[in-house]
Parts: sequence; structure tokens; C-alpha cells
Amino acid sequence: MVIWPTGIFTSINDGLGASLDAVHELGVETVQLHAPSIANRSHEDIQKISRLFSEINVEISVVFVGFPEDDYSTIEKVKETVGIVPPLYRSKRLAETLEVANFAKSLSVDAIGMHLGFVPEDQNNRLFAEIVESTRRVCDHCALNDQFFHLETGQETADGLLGFIEAVDRGNLAINFDPANMILYGSGDPLDALEKVGSFVRSVHCKDATYERRPDQPWYEDAPLGEGDIDIEAFLSKLYSLGYRGPLTIEREYSPNQKGDIAKALNLLRFLRKKICG
Ligand code: MG
Repeated sequence: MVIWPTGIFTSINDGLGASLDAVHELGVETVQLHAPSIANRSHEDIQKISRLFSEINVEISVVFVGFPEDDYSTIEKVKETVGIVPPLYRSKRLAETLEVANFAKSLSVDAIGMHLGFVPEDQNNRLFAEIVESTRRVCDHCALNDQFFHLETGQETADGLLGFIEAVDRGNLAINFDPANMILYGSGDPLDALEKVGSFVRSVHCKDATYERRPDQPWYEDAPLGEGDIDIEAFLSKLYSLGYRGPLTIEREYSPNQKGDIAKALNLLRFLRKKICG
């Protein structure tokens, strides 16, 4: 098995992520795919997507769920609109999440991922119990498909996330660790968090960010990998020591030079992989 195959967060037709052209041109072994909208998930679409990736010999490691109303423009908007926490959208989105899990299964992908939204850290909050129940429904559906459900990190502290995972109590609930989100959402030191939640990590986003923000800088804007405040070598060394051997998936969305930044990030990851893994 290849240790730490490189990957890119990608999308087809709609959704966030780098284009398939970039994936092909830059040459990676894996991708995480942002799920296309319902209009682009027909049986024919699935066959086409399957063919596209097999032709370029790229494996889809995780399908990420997103929703049309997700709004990342401010942290307040994230609270109101993202994931299955906002009650207004919850039942519709739960149904869609199960459909995306089936879509992923049709593509032989054994994991779906998602930002759940801001889960309250106070376990006595009624919303906490509701989200635990909703997450169990997703996990139980994924289990029928032999899939894992990966929670994207960042909107909660490591302790909050651990408490939530314990409360959900499902063996196929896992973590997609994104170190930059810990900085962007102010949820704690990324490496300390990784140390705490490490045993649940089944996928990662290689994304960087700076603590210091320019006055006009959007809160969500990340940094090219290796140019932010995350010590990428220390991040990878910790992943290695925790036993993580899965894909290293580069996420770089908000950049005028997305492809160039990803190419540089790939070089960095390959250099460090050789250094750390030998
Ligand atoms: Mg991410």
C-alpha cells in the first residue's frame, strides 16, 4: 500500500474545489470529491464520473456533502446556514446526505464527509441531543453501505469534538482533520487538537492559514501550504506517529493562483513524505 498518496479536493460541474483538469494535469493518486448537486447525480452521471476517474487512474477517497444554501461569507452566516445544525434545513439535508452516501457507494467510495455546523459544546443544550440523533441516522445509513462518516474539523474545539463523538457512539464515525480550520475558526492549536483526536482521523485536508489577518482579508481565506502558521512538517510527523497512512488531500479554494499553489503544495508534501517516511 502506498503511504500518504497525494490528493486534491475537487469538484465536477458544481461545488467547491479544484477542477478535474487541474487534477489531471498535476498528477495525483487520489481526490476528495465535493458531491455534485442532485441534477448531476443521475445513473448516467455516476457512470460518467466513474469512467472519468478510472481513465486518469485517480481514486476518490471521500465524497464531501455540501448544500446550496451553505454560506461561508461570515462566521455568523456559517452558524445560520451550514450543515445539519440549522433546524430550518435539517430534515431536507439529512435526506440529501443519505442520498449522497448512496451516490458515493455507487462510485465504490467508502466514506462521506461534512461540516456538521456549529454543534453546541454544552451537552445539556437541546440542540446537542438533536444533532447527536441526526448524526446517528447518517452513521447507521453509512454502516449499511459499509461506509464511514467523516466530520470536518474546525467549528469546535478538540475536546468538544471528542465529547460529541463519544455521545454519538457509532464505530463508523470518524474525522477529516483540517488544521487550517482550527486557526480560521479560532478553535485551538491545530497540532494540540490533532494529538487529542488523532485516533479518529481517517482523512485530512492539507490546508494552511495565518493567525494575523489583514484588515480587508475575508475570515475564511487560507494560505498557500507552507506559507501560513502551520508547521507542515510537524503536522505530518504527528500524523505519522499517530499511525495515519491515508491520503494527503490538498484543499485550496480561495486563491487567484489555485493551480500554481496546489502544484507547490504537492512538491512540499512529496518532499516531506520522503523525509518522514523514507
Ligand atoms: Mg477543509
